[in-house]
Order: sequence, then structure tokens, then C-alpha cells
Amino acid sequence: MAAGDPYMTDFPLGPLWPGQLVNSAFYGVLMFGAMTAARALGRGRRRRKGLCPWCAYPVGNTGPCSECGAPVA
Ligand SMILES: [Zn+2]
Repeated sequence: MAAGDPYMTDFPLGPLWPGQLVNSAFYGVLMFGAMTAARALGRGRRRRKGLCPWCAYPVGNTGPCSECGAPVA
């Protein structure tokens, strides 16, 4: 492929920066939301099972966690 090849002039040889930035922002926000939701679901599941939502130490339903000190609601 030589420079000036009339059949390859529209082929991108580097990042197309506006699209690259928009895609990075879009998928970054999407993955951040997915990871945040997954962590929240895990904390809720641990809380329902009577475990500390942050360290999964068995603490019951009252008081701060005796292992890490986090509040257990
Ligand atoms: Zn804890």
C-alpha cells in the first residue's frame, strides 16, 4: 500500500479522535454503572444474609461490624 493509493484513501490508519473520545466516554460510563450496580447487589445480598455488607463478616442485624467497624443497618 503506497501513499496516494486511490483505493485506500478512506482507510483509517490511526484513531479517529472525536469518535474515540465519545466511545471511550460512553463505554466508560456504561462499565462504571455496571460495576457500581454489581457491587450494590453484592452488598444487599450480604446484608440480607446477616453479614457485614463491606467485609462479609457475620454480624447479624444491629450495631457496627465488629470486624471492620462499618455501620450495619
Ligand atoms: Zn465488616
